[in-house]
Amino acid sequence: MLNTFKAAFERAVIGDSAPSLAKWGKLIPLPLIRRLQEDSFRETVRYAARHQKFFADKLRERNLDPSKIRKPDDLKDVFTTAEDLLSHPPEDFLCRPPQVVFETTGTSGPPKRLYFTYHELDHAASYEAAALWENGIRPDDRVVCAFDAGYWVSSWVTFLAAKHLGVFCSAVGKPLPRELYSRMGIYHYNVIVADPTWLVSLTEIAEKEGVLPVKLILAAGDRMTDVYRRYVQKVWKAPVILGYGSTEAGGGLGIECRAGKGYHLDEFNFYPEIIDRDAEGYGELVVTTLSRRTEPLIRYRVRDVTRFLEGSCPCGTPLRRIDAIKGRRDEMVVMGAGNMHPAIFERVIQGVEGISERWQVAVLQEGLRDILEFRLELTNGIDPHSVQASIARNLEACYPDVWANHVCGMYRLAFKFLPSGTLPPERKPRRLVDERN
Ligand SMILES: [Zn+2]
Repeated sequence: MLNTFKAAFERAVIGDSAPSLAKWGKLIPLPLIRRLQEDSFRETVRYAARHQKFFADKLRERNLDPSKIRKPDDLKDVFTTAEDLLSHPPEDFLCRPPQVVFETTGTSGPPKRLYFTYHELDHAASYEAAALWENGIRPDDRVVCAFDAGYWVSSWVTFLAAKHLGVFCSAVGKPLPRELYSRMGIYHYNVIVADPTWLVSLTEIAEKEGVLPVKLILAAGDRMTDVYRRYVQKVWKAPVILGYGSTEAGGGLGIECRAGKGYHLDEFNFYPEIIDRDAEGYGELVVTTLSRRTEPLIRYRVRDVTRFLEGSCPCGTPLRRIDAIKGRRDEMVVMGAGNMHPAIFERVIQGVEGISERWQVAVLQEGLRDILEFRLELTNGIDPHSVQASIARNLEACYPDVWANHVCGMYRLAFKFLPSGTLPPERKPRRLVDERN
């Protein structure tokens, strides 16, 4: 029985048709998903052991025989981390010559670089197409994708997904919201794909100047709070579906269904684990890529904290779901300014005169906008305005991208000056805190 299903499923994958892939995503029996995953996991491990220097070295160091690895647990403490990607040359991960490269976005430190072939991107796109089909996108729709393009992967994969669906699509990078708004009536877009903070800016324009008919909005790329989501849905009178992905995943890792209860993971192309779980099941997401052969990632530590959702989803898809991302494993805060890390503020505050060693930056929410609040203790009776000006100047000079998002209105800067000795004098203070609900 399973073999019959497997053969039919593989024909659908080869046939590369979004509707049939979407159908299989719903019909496929759970035991078959697990078997496909476990088979692919073993194959990927054997392949990487032969072709990937980084992974082969790890196995050798720990005396692990790749032919005996059946499940992720068998690999014990073998993982691939972001630091590994940054500290080794690309050749240590590449198993064959690449055709495409993408970078992670990162305001602190250098970007990670991930390599693919055209076929791998197209393969990822066919699964995204199936997810879009399942969420109701049809060939007579018109999609506009405003994900940042350039070295970021999402825009390209979404464009290729549109190609698979045969749906009209403009993948235009991340224009000013107003530029896109002025074209909505010309091109009759009825599906908007964008990152959450950009989407809020577009929605504010539409609320004032008129809403055009839209049937679906897909958001991904940074944190979308419930407040933002309700607002965007109310103004456009259209559902907002959230996607979850990364450059390391080569695009999408999971997407919500119309039930909106967690992200269904793409279990055909990834083997997910959640490690170091707490009592509520929350832990760090770890994924192994199952389809990529240019730069497969074995047990890649995503650093996002989430948990598996138990029970079946009302939509009927057996693909496992993860809960909304609770936060980053490290201290990173994702907000309208970008991915904020304490190191950013250490650099920005360094050398600013008239403030004490004790300081903290908080991310707050004011209505629909994020606020970046600098909490500082003044010394030497300096004029607070000159402190504000120095900090703004440093931010602009050191992090032009963060500043550009400020100019775009993606967040507001605020300053709170406290009497000396007010902020906690911990030895390792939390420099960056997220206080949004
Ligand atoms: Zn569902």
